[in-house]
Amino acid sequence: MSKSLQAIRGMNDILPEQTPLWRYFEGTVARLLDNYGYRQIRMPIVEFTELFKRSIGEVTDIVEKEMYTFDDRNGDSLTLRPEGTAACVRAVLEHGITGGGQVQKLWYVGPMFRHERPQKGRYRQFHQIGLEVFNLEGPDIDAELIVMTWRLWGELGLRDAVKLELNSLGTSESRGRYREALVEFLSAHLDKLDEDSQRRLKTNPLRVLDTKNAETQAVLVDAPKMADYLDDESRAHFEGLKARLDAVGIPYVINPKLVRGLDYYSKTVFEWVTDKLGAQGTVCAGGRYDGLVEQMGGKPTPGVGFAMGIERLVLMLEALDKVPEELSRQVDVYLCAFGEAAELAALSLSERIRDQLPNLRLQINAGAGSFKSQFKKADKSGALYALILGDDELAQQVVGFKPLRGQGEQQSIAWDALAAHLATCVVQG
Ligand code: ATP
Ligand code: MG
Repeated sequence: MSKSLQAIRGMNDILPEQTPLWRYFEGTVARLLDNYGYRQIRMPIVEFTELFKRSIGEVTDIVEKEMYTFDDRNGDSLTLRPEGTAACVRAVLEHGITGGGQVQKLWYVGPMFRHERPQKGRYRQFHQIGLEVFNLEGPDIDAELIVMTWRLWGELGLRDAVKLELNSLGTSESRGRYREALVEFLSAHLDKLDEDSQRRLKTNPLRVLDTKNAETQAVLVDAPKMADYLDDESRAHFEGLKARLDAVGIPYVINPKLVRGLDYYSKTVFEWVTDKLGAQGTVCAGGRYDGLVEQMGGKPTPGVGFAMGIERLVLMLEALDKVPEELSRQVDVYLCAFGEAAELAALSLSERIRDQLPNLRLQINAGAGSFKSQFKKADKSGALYALILGDDELAQQVVGFKPLRGQGEQQSIAWDALAAHLATCVVQG
């Protein structure tokens, strides 16, 4: 194939072999969110560039170097969304649905775009399921988000493979005081900081804390700790969260260096991390952003949310062998018909069966073919049973019912009794 007809690097097709696992994952999350009273919102994939600059912050990795930004035909600067929170806040403000303290518990799913270096678990188009809660300021809701993800890991069989890291960034006042102390400390050790950290010291000093540079990390050992600068309110909030996690029995570690990449967080920040995916270890990350809505032009509105990376979680399910067995089979029954009259009867019979068994996965042979070729297709489909309709069956108004996976002999079943028979031998998902 010519080069111009390839997908863009870091933007992947999700092929039919993979989509059952994606749907299983997304379906499991969607059901869970329904059960906890969250409602889905769908935002556009493209927004004005200004939105992301204002919400995410000018001096973050995303805005500085990862956004897909272009001018449209009107000359407006637009950006493919790198994350969902900004657009979600824009949407709730635009539609006034958080006004007057209205609580909103929202979730979304879809592609996000960041110009990063593609590698396992890191792509340029990737997919997130995200969740945002507005107008609830207590630690009870922070805890609910974490409890809910904990339940999700349980349902998916991933609990043993993930670890919860927590931190509190305090209110903007306490963070301001901490920032000053940190800048003072780091400035005294300027020569030992890596280049990136020296730059961040001026633009976004908290980000120095999550440097990967060993020498800078060594300097940070003696740096002032955010925990010592928390105001009473933030401290009480953090204690309230921890007490709830303890009550449910969710293990966590406090990671004082957890600051998250985005500017807008306050108080609670958390990440679920795994050591099963190499360097791309964060599968779900979030926190509280009480100042964001106001910063974007709304009334002061507390907010908290998280986003999980679907690719990374799908990779984890595969790596840990947690892909449910039943996903490998997409067809229950394959209906073979021989000759034109039988084909017509097969079509109306299959429609009757679908009326009676709406969850049955029934594939009807297309493209005619000999006995041999239709059986080959039936077998390849993965179906448990083949149904056979030829001239003889047609005359007697029966079908041949043939187990394909070695469970017994072929038998003859009357059309009228077929649905009831299938209901007993096919477990319907
Ligand atoms: P990382 O530190 O891995 O770059 P991040 O802090 O930039 O992550 P967030 O913006 O918090 O990530 O996004 C939430 C989640 O989305 C991440 O925890 C991760 O699971 C997923 N994610 C982020 N960027 C990518 C990417 N480029 N490819 C695949 N998944 C991603
Ligand atoms: Mg990143």
